[in-house]
Amino acid sequence: MLNAISKTPNHSGRDWQITALLADNLYVETDCNSGDKRRVRKTQCSCGELMLIEYNAQSSCRSDKKRVFYSDDAPDSLWGAFRCRACKEPVNETVTYAEYG
Ligand SMILES: [Zn+2]
Repeated sequence: MLNAISKTPNHSGRDWQITALLADNLYVETDCNSGDKRRVRKTQCSCGELMLIEYNAQSSCRSDKKRVFYSDDAPDSLWGAFRCRACKEPVNETVTYAEYG
């Protein structure tokens, strides 16, 4: 089995792996392919939807550089959620740690 070839068929090659645990639900992920690092917090909306927050995200359009996204987003997705996909409330109001600032 040449699983090195078949492993990442549909995205640009991001392979985020947790490389350091900073605190409960706060960790550093490293992209095995590029060596890029990102700091991610696992959190959830008040409705129970699981969310992730990336800090200092280059693709974030927020002034505080937080990017709120879902754990099932594609690894190379740069998209950030403004409203929860489940309850439709603004994530900065309902998701723990996603407030502005
Ligand atoms: Zn919600």
